[in-house]
Amino acid sequence: MKTRVCRLYGQHDIRIETDDIQPPGPGEVLLRMSAGGICGSDLHYYQDGGFGPIRVREPIILGHEVSGTVAALGDGVRGLKEGMKVAFNPSRPCGHCRYCAEGRPRHCTEMRFSGSAMRMPHEQGGFREFMVVQATQCIPLSDRTSLAHAACAEPLSVALHACGQAGDIRGAQVLVTGAGPIGALCVAAARAAGAAHIVATDIQDATLEVARRMGADTTLNVGRDAEALHPWREDKGRFDVAFECSAVSSALQDAMMAVRPGGTIVQVGVTGNLSIPLNILVGKEIALRGSHRFDREFEQAAAMIDSGQIDVGPIITGRYPLEDALSAFEAASDRTRSVKVQLAFE
Ligand code: ZN
Repeated sequence: MKTRVCRLYGQHDIRIETDDIQPPGPGEVLLRMSAGGICGSDLHYYQDGGFGPIRVREPIILGHEVSGTVAALGDGVRGLKEGMKVAFNPSRPCGHCRYCAEGRPRHCTEMRFSGSAMRMPHEQGGFREFMVVQATQCIPLSDRTSLAHAACAEPLSVALHACGQAGDIRGAQVLVTGAGPIGALCVAAARAAGAAHIVATDIQDATLEVARRMGADTTLNVGRDAEALHPWREDKGRFDVAFECSAVSSALQDAMMAVRPGGTIVQVGVTGNLSIPLNILVGKEIALRGSHRFDREFEQAAAMIDSGQIDVGPIITGRYPLEDALSAFEAASDRTRSVKVQLAFE
């Protein structure tokens, strides 16, 4: 059997090719892929050939935000059947390392994550028509659920995990800096977790409009007005919690200034070195916590999308067929008009 795939050979070198594909083995499932969201990491692979120390060293099929329908079952697979819609969990922790044993598989030392160039050989991803996966990575959905929405289960699980890192946020005043896909989903996750008031900041009006539709009460364009957050600095800061999703120094500074003493900043956006005002961190006893991927939140995210508890629709700003992958990556690179751009495989 054949499948078309979207393969990255290096910086700005994407090719649509046709591969042979084997039938699913024991415990495996053949998925007919439906939708695949382009993530910031996919964009870095495409634009820069990688990020930080992680480089594309061999051709790789990108994509870890994908969904599909079950096309065939391998031996011994239970709980799934042909034609079923599924959200695909791209995490494959080893199950026996120290962190897996501790119940924190997101820190697995042998993690295999779809569409990642971290390890050699690279872990191949889901931007393709058909893919053979482990049955355990498939979360069944109801027939009515949009597979485009289902492909947002992965970024939503990142946002749910970030929310969990903040503790109980019921009744909290929440700041979200950076209204890209993860920021917008942090808004929705914070809303679902019972936040009282959510302020989102960005430097693009288009992304802020999406954040508003995802549940932000107040949106501020800090590109146009650098002092827009100043009223929230009163009394040493008025936010209980901030989700910093931009990995931009000025945004972290803004969060530091506007979070109350004893408040929490969850750092979700990733970059290398960035300066931190330690005097404020210390003086206000701010808890600065990182948030890395997700564990059980994936099932929770799939369920929230499936039940309609969170409507991820507003973040999807573009859909392109596999053949137009290049246009899709170019659109995804343009923050003035794009939040989440997806490839459509059927
Ligand atoms: Zn492990």
